[in-house]
Amino acid sequence: MVSWDLLYFVLRACFDGLKTKYCEVPKAIEGEGEASYEYGRKVVGIRELEEQVEVESEIEGGKREKDFADLVIAADG
Ligand SMILES: Cc1cc2nc3c(=O)[nH]c(=O)nc-3n(C[C@H](O)[C@H](O)[C@H](O)COP(=O)(O)OP(=O)(O)OC[C@H]3O[C@@H](n4cnc5c(N)ncnc54)[C@H](O)[C@@H]3O)c2cc1C
Repeated sequence: MVSWDLLYFVLRACFDGLKTKYCEVPKAIEGEGEASYEYGRKVVGIRELEEQVEVESEIEGGKREKDFADLVIAADG
């Protein structure tokens, strides 16, 4: 048996280095990129550009922001 909390926080420790009581945060490997976990964003549009993908999100207060990515994976349930 394992709790969802434990699974979630182990994955977060590996993904964006979130510190919790559940586990140690793995040491960063030289040259690895950065990751951030953003709350409270609703993706409202995805547009393919020539080299990248533009992701438009609605954040708190109805404000919209754009992010640019090489690869977008949607996992909306
Ligand atoms: C009542 C219930 C009980 C369950 N019990 C179990 C169980 O005991 N064991 C088990 O193995 N499975 C269980 N499941 C199934 C399990 O919860 C799902 O299979 C699993 O959560 C799917 O994971 P996911 O990451 O694909 O989607 P989700 O966990 O649904 O995550 C999708 C995320 O995408 C977000 N999202 C959607 N649209 C947008 C958008 N436009 N912009 C930004 N974010 C967006 C949502 O807010 C959500 O946070 C249960 C499901 C329910 C409903």
